[in-house]
Amino acid sequence: MIEIKDLHKSYHMGNNSLHVLKGINFNVEDGEMVAIMGSSGSGKSTLLNILGMLDEADQGSYVLDNTHIKNLNEKLAARYRNRFLGFVFQSFNLISYKSALDNVAMPLYYQGVKRSKRTERAMSYLDKVGLRDWATHMPNELSGGQKQRVAIARALASDPKVLLADEPTGALDSKTSYEVMEIIQAINDEGKTILIVTHEDDIAHMCKRIVHLRDGVIIDDQRIDQVRVKEMTNV
Ligand code: ADP
Ligand code: MG
Repeated sequence: MIEIKDLHKSYHMGNNSLHVLKGINFNVEDGEMVAIMGSSGSGKSTLLNILGMLDEADQGSYVLDNTHIKNLNEKLAARYRNRFLGFVFQSFNLISYKSALDNVAMPLYYQGVKRSKRTERAMSYLDKVGLRDWATHMPNELSGGQKQRVAIARALASDPKVLLADEPTGALDSKTSYEVMEIIQAINDEGKTILIVTHEDDIAHMCKRIVHLRDGVIIDDQRIDQVRVKEMTNV
């Protein structure tokens, strides 16, 4: 699903430059659930943003679902992003003046899906994250966990190949974090490929594989026995 080879990225500020990704190599197969771990500043978000086509690498190759992601014009990049990728952020990034339902329906609007179909699909994804009864509520009427569930429904609405989440539980207390992770595990159970950036060990262990980043290189990459939130007794 994802193949990256020798990925490099630097940021330039005046005369200074910061080499953030220093030759990243890794592959992700269809259906995997991968945690990208590392301390703050290790390059996790930079890597995820490149995978999510929100940013471009300086060097190296990135193949997503057999498509080379390189030198795409803005329009094509936007189309691939919309079709291939769903993004979830730490701060939810919902549109404050739109209802939960309209937030979820938004990516479908950009895909040219008709209104009635949009509403129906958005509702089924809200249902999937347990928020059918909250469809008409505005983001400021929702708790943090509910907002993140809306954001997950929105990311899934266009049925992306890969779900990318940057610290999706970073703004949530641990009980709410686990509820969100339970939903993400259920989505992965249905076959969706998922990458989650986190610096929290317990969250990483709810994935099936942990890729450990330090100072812009992968220092460890291992498959693990996934902790199932559903089976945890003390949450
Ligand atoms: P992480 O997500 O692991 O905390 P980031 O990928 O956000 O790390 O950042 C890696 C390094 O790159 C940090 O030192 C950060 O300050 C720097 N950085 C991130 N984005 C930019 C940017 N747009 N311009 C300049 N420096 C940046
Ligand atoms: Mg980050």
